[in-house]
Amino acid sequence: MKKKICIIGCGTFGSYLLKRLLEKHGDGADITVVEIGHSKTQSESEVGLGSISEHSKVSTDGRYFGFGGTSARWGGQVLFFDERDNPEGDATWNEIVRINQRHKATVLKNLLGENVDLQEDRANIKTGIWLKYAKRNLFKRLGKSQLAPVKMMPGQRVVDFNIIEGRLNSVVCRSREGQTAEVAADVFYLTAGALESCRLLLALNAKTGLLDGTDLGKNFGDHISTELFTVHGAKPVINGVDFTPRLRRGSLVTQRMIVQTDDGVIGFLHCVFNKDIKAFKFLKELMFGKRSTTVTFAEFIGGVVFLFQFVFHLLFKNKLYVDETQWSLQLDMEQPVPNKNRLALSAEKDQYGEAAIQIDWQVSKKDLAYIAEMRKKIEHILKSNQLEFKALYNPATTDNKVEDVYHPVGCTRIGHDAKAVVNYNGRVKSINNLYHFSTGIFPSAKSINPSAAVLCFVEECLAGEP
Ligand SMILES: Cc1cc2nc3c(=O)[nH]c(=O)nc-3n(C[C@H](O)[C@H](O)[C@H](O)COP(=O)(O)OP(=O)(O)OC[C@H]3O[C@@H](n4cnc5c(N)ncnc54)[C@H](O)[C@@H]3O)c2cc1C
Repeated sequence: MKKKICIIGCGTFGSYLLKRLLEKHGDGADITVVEIGHSKTQSESEVGLGSISEHSKVSTDGRYFGFGGTSARWGGQVLFFDERDNPEGDATWNEIVRINQRHKATVLKNLLGENVDLQEDRANIKTGIWLKYAKRNLFKRLGKSQLAPVKMMPGQRVVDFNIIEGRLNSVVCRSREGQTAEVAADVFYLTAGALESCRLLLALNAKTGLLDGTDLGKNFGDHISTELFTVHGAKPVINGVDFTPRLRRGSLVTQRMIVQTDDGVIGFLHCVFNKDIKAFKFLKELMFGKRSTTVTFAEFIGGVVFLFQFVFHLLFKNKLYVDETQWSLQLDMEQPVPNKNRLALSAEKDQYGEAAIQIDWQVSKKDLAYIAEMRKKIEHILKSNQLEFKALYNPATTDNKVEDVYHPVGCTRIGHDAKAVVNYNGRVKSINNLYHFSTGIFPSAKSINPSAAVLCFVEECLAGEP
């Protein structure tokens, strides 16, 4: 009998997983994909989901629905955790780093078509790779013939789990019109995004208590991001490292500086270029799939010199054109664990009649103290590099712009301890045949945009699969 597999949510990780399962099993497995959306990418409100969130925009602006999910709109920057993310030698992070290092070459090959040396031996400088635009939507990498044997169920939302003696027998799906269907399988993969997957597990736990005593929904974190300084009239070179993104076979290779507070809280410093140039803003909005723009036609055309430089540098110098009159330094810090942020089921219902997700998230006083500490350290670095700069972040005031950046972590934390929600191959505690992959598995965000690191856990799971 063929193994029956059900994938819940065909976004970034669901699409990658589907491709890898098809490569592994060919037509030797019966695969069903349940996806709430369709081929057109939709926002939270368009698809009919709901959230209550006072301080974070991760639910409304940080996730997208339909085949390809958020990868239809993401930046597509690929990075991995390495030892520099775990200077304290924490046991959970040791394992996360080990699994990232074990599978990063495979993930890079699958994403880029080649393995790339990320030069992880360079003290505090980390390399990332922005996938070329046409390669960002991971669902679009699946060909029609590859998908032919897969049972696709678009417009169906998983709303419930039927569990008998620690095994998930079937999931209940509901369309927006209220029709229900049931999908039975031997193995289920929950890849509905960090927020919706956590919401489904919270609802499952409210019904069964199977995840009682775990940290499900707790210590919900993100990177907290703020623009620290603008630098004027200089090349983006700090401590001898050139931060200009370079082109490599259509992808952009970037550099960031890993930073650390005295308490061991990790983050990264990166350069933001051409921020005030309207023509560049327009190009970025186009690349991130925005359907409207704030840039007028006149402003776009007014940037003709910039556009010429931009194209010239990409074509003939293999690098991004950087306007040296002014560029910014942006700091992104992890939110250390434990913290008070959490996800819970709200009393409010969404358009499917399901409990909306309640997001209690904020930037704490401690988070701000870490930003202030890093600001001081970075100011010192700028001075020693004799760069002319202007400070934007002022620790003495409360009106600094400090935001989350859609890297939801912590809510479905990985580990071997009793409070962890999933184990290191993604299996959900107390349920034999349910696996979960999202950025929610990482305790915190450390120094990377975390999606490619999740793909390493998909690989780890598949490597252990019979
Ligand atoms: C603007 C932006 C830029 C970003 N840039 C980067 C970057 O450069 N690098 C990086 O690493 N990360 C980046 N991220 C984060 C990255 O996009 C996410 O980490 C990643 O896409 C999450 O993948 P996922 O599969 O968990 O969720 P998604 O890709 O959102 O997929 C979830 C899928 O599940 C479906 N679904 C949801 N609920 C259900 C249900 N109940 N039943 C059935 N189907 C369901 C959805 O329709 C969707 O297709 C960015 C995010 C944003 C918003």
